[in-house]
Amino acid sequence: MAKAPDVLILGAGVMGASVAWHLAQRGVRRVTLLDAAIGPGAGSTGRATGGYRGQFSTEANVRLSLASRAKLVRFRDEVGTDPQYRPVGYLFLCDTAEQLAGFRRSRAIQRDCGLFEATELAADDLAGINPHVSYDGVIGASWCPSDGTIRPLEILRGYLEGAQRGGATVHWGTRVTALERAADGRITAVRSAAGERWASPHVVNCTGAWAGGVAAMAGLALPVVPTRRQIAVALGHGLPDALPMTIWVRDGFHLRVRDGQALLNWPVDTPSDDPFSLHVHRPWVDATWAMARERVPAMAHAHLDDGAHWAGLYEMSPDKTVCFGYDPACPNLLLVNGSSGHGVMHSPILGELAAEWLVTGRVTSMDVRPLRPTRFAEGDPNPVNDLL
Ligand SMILES: Cc1cc2nc3c(=O)[nH]c(=O)nc-3n(C[C@H](O)[C@H](O)[C@H](O)COP(=O)(O)OP(=O)(O)OC[C@H]3O[C@@H](n4cnc5c(N)ncnc54)[C@H](O)[C@@H]3O)c2cc1C
Repeated sequence: MAKAPDVLILGAGVMGASVAWHLAQRGVRRVTLLDAAIGPGAGSTGRATGGYRGQFSTEANVRLSLASRAKLVRFRDEVGTDPQYRPVGYLFLCDTAEQLAGFRRSRAIQRDCGLFEATELAADDLAGINPHVSYDGVIGASWCPSDGTIRPLEILRGYLEGAQRGGATVHWGTRVTALERAADGRITAVRSAAGERWASPHVVNCTGAWAGGVAAMAGLALPVVPTRRQIAVALGHGLPDALPMTIWVRDGFHLRVRDGQALLNWPVDTPSDDPFSLHVHRPWVDATWAMARERVPAMAHAHLDDGAHWAGLYEMSPDKTVCFGYDPACPNLLLVNGSSGHGVMHSPILGELAAEWLVTGRVTSMDVRPLRPTRFAEGDPNPVNDLL
């Protein structure tokens, strides 16, 4: 006999947890989350460094960021845990006039969406914002003081515990292996590796970097693929936790400080036969460390913490924007996938929008058309020119 919740959510990372919490807020209590992992945070959410920014170059992502920021500010009162949103700023360092011009175009889009505080800085202004790095070759920057940092695992904990208080049930160690469909395309049952079976009028795919494979179980082509991102950890640098997120546009290298650890990120892929590999590539660590030492004088006295480096998976969509909505071929499978490395920061608003759609049958609070999963097949993706 199949178990039959009102909404069945596949994946209990930050996205699934946010959907469940927002459903509970709307009074939907019979919500079940299935997750293959043995406990919270084992997917990408627990591997995120915890950046938040509004400095995107597409309207869709700027709007998701601004709506999420409003919710992050209220999060502790509404959800009960502290997301630790700290507006330490994002500083994008530019070497060329073309790079600066690109950020100018992005800021025009940001202003149209209501983000007014992002601004261009001249080279002379930079040391006043971040005195801890070397500005060799840098001619200016884009700076937004309301960008900053957040705590992925506290956001996850808040949503998960709140959803459970509201009636939701989480089944850990439950790997979904099959989605059964009726002739009209609807999902009729979800099966797990252990042979359990769930039936629900509404199924939500929140399986992050694994979402393409889960959608394929229903015969859907969802273009969300994993991309490995690695983080090298340095100690003994003396940099403050309130260091702005500082990004060199020339190659994407960036760093932030969390709990005294300098988190070094050079966002390039290194070769692997396994797209889901979490192996940290030693040559990548060495190259990243060389960049850090060249660009951050405090690293001269610092050392790598070799046991602490880690890798995780971004859930990439072709235009680096979430796929949010229903595929017409499968009218009861809501997709919330492909945030492309921005899923923690966008989870507050995406969970709210998902709950709105599930409960009312439509979304009127935001224009979600640019997020529709079918935009690729229609030849109408969002413009892609975001660096990270
Ligand atoms: C190194 C790194 C840095 C990052 N930095 C940031 C950042 O600064 N800011 C930001 O916003 N985002 C960042 N991200 C991205 C962020 O981690 C993701 O966008 C976000 O966690 C996605 O949340 P999710 O719930 O969709 O995925 P996940 O947290 O991965 O959750 C998906 C869940 O689905 C489960 N699952 C998978 N397959 C199945 C199955 N078949 N059956 C059942 N369960 C299944 C998994 O076990 C997992 O728990 C970063 C990611 C990485 C790797």
